[in-house]
Amino acid sequence: QDDIFKNVVSHAKEYGFIFPSSEIYDGLSAVYDYAQNGVELKKNIRDYWWKSMVQMHENIVGLDASILMHPTTWKASGHVDAFNDPLIDNKDSKKRYRADVLIEDYAEKLNQKAQKEIDKARTRFGEAFNETEFVTTNERVKGYLEQKNTILQRMARSLETENLADVKALIEELEIACPDSGSKNWTDVKQFNLMFGTKLGASAESAMDLYLRPETAQGIFVNFLNVQKTGRMKIPFGIAQTGKAFRNEIVARQFIFRMREFEQMEMQFFVKPGEEMKYYEFWKETRLNWHLSLGLGRQNYRFHDHEKLAHYANAAADIEFNFPFGFKELEGIHSRTDFDLKAHEQFSGKKLQYFDTETNANYTPYVVETSIGLDRMFLAVFSNSLQEETLEDGSTRTVLRLPSVLAPTKAAVLPLLKKEGLPEIAHKIIEDLRWDFNVAYDEKDAIGRRYRRQDALGTPFCITVDHQTIEDETVTIRHRDSMKQDRVKISELRNIINTEVSM
Ligand code: ATP
Repeated sequence: QDDIFKNVVSHAKEYGFIFPSSEIYDGLSAVYDYAQNGVELKKNIRDYWWKSMVQMHENIVGLDASILMHPTTWKASGHVDAFNDPLIDNKDSKKRYRADVLIEDYAEKLNQKAQKEIDKARTRFGEAFNETEFVTTNERVKGYLEQKNTILQRMARSLETENLADVKALIEELEIACPDSGSKNWTDVKQFNLMFGTKLGASAESAMDLYLRPETAQGIFVNFLNVQKTGRMKIPFGIAQTGKAFRNEIVARQFIFRMREFEQMEMQFFVKPGEEMKYYEFWKETRLNWHLSLGLGRQNYRFHDHEKLAHYANAAADIEFNFPFGFKELEGIHSRTDFDLKAHEQFSGKKLQYFDTETNANYTPYVVETSIGLDRMFLAVFSNSLQEETLEDGSTRTVLRLPSVLAPTKAAVLPLLKKEGLPEIAHKIIEDLRWDFNVAYDEKDAIGRRYRRQDALGTPFCITVDHQTIEDETVTIRHRDSMKQDRVKISELRNIINTEVSM
């Protein structure tokens, strides 16, 4: 699994998808840049989301609110008081950990201990079966696993009740059960606010403390009435937005899974109070179907219904995806009640209510939210698509089986030779196709190597111009996944590509 993940990271760099930020200065932790191919894939994911959420829904409109917002926004939303992660420092190593992640790491160590016992026993029993030894090994393994489960349950309880002393005690206990590098010397567990602060204004005295938004949702809530009135929107309706969000994450170690600057795609759906559960179920299903439409495999998704709810929610679920490091949250669907609109009403002193023309009454709508990280979605698609294949002749190829609709480049046009008029024809084909698709040209290296390079970039089609093209205006078109080649008329290319890559 580790190897698969390393492969994903190095492939993303080698083929121009993702680079570490400011790499010449040794990078900045958990901040990344999208390169020439990455930016296209990311844009296509965003467009695919936007089309299905906004264009395809009569009652959902878009918005692009600012990253900087009035600071009171974050008091009202609860982020100033409650947007925290539990943090613990190690006095010996001077390292900082997120307490819950540290406990999960220790639990994983217990798992590994159990696995080691099993492996050892396997080799021994392979030589001669010994019943007494079998029973004691069994007991030890059971012991480790039970210990692991109790610990995770205790952690969940202590975090839920914010019993930070208990979290610390748990870590110390685990240190004894799984000593790491000698004795560890832990500080108290503290709550750490994840918002990035900044300042607005020139002079030190008058400067105003601001935050970079940690979620895009609040920009939607504060604009709720503006959009509803000017768009003459009738409940139920939604407002969708994509944009950057910032979180000063304590652990940042899973490539673009957990970044400090990332992009969200969020939609807030405003409904009549009492109808929120109906729409919560509707959006859970609709969002899962959106994921399934990309064909990454049903077995790679599962719901995780939350038992512990955030202060604003009365129901919440994650859509989890099977990343190279296991099932983790990809998207959240939250029934946020009227918490946000009511809080903004209270803090701003402005009414944020909907006037229902059928009943002639005002009310504060309830909100159902769908919130997905664009970068996490990128990682899901990219890691799932990257495959090493052994071909019939025994050779291997690396192929990025991206859903064609998301591929950065839809077709590469390749002249068989660099002469005899073939490059000119190839360029003419490109001129004609580039109105509709991203098309690339490549004339370097043998044709087989050029095919492999396009496979690794995820390009669904390669179009090869050869001598026969001069005679009858036909080319070969090669399919990335099947590697099958067909001879077709140049005039048919647009249709063939379009059937596979259009949204
Ligand atoms: P996590 O539990 O993984 O920290 P969260 O529950 O805090 O995530 P939300 O606040 O619900 O996440 O944000 C909605 C979505 O935004 C998440 O499902 C995820 O896809 C994305 N997201 C959140 N934090 C990050 C991050 N640091 N880097 C990349 N994407 C993120």
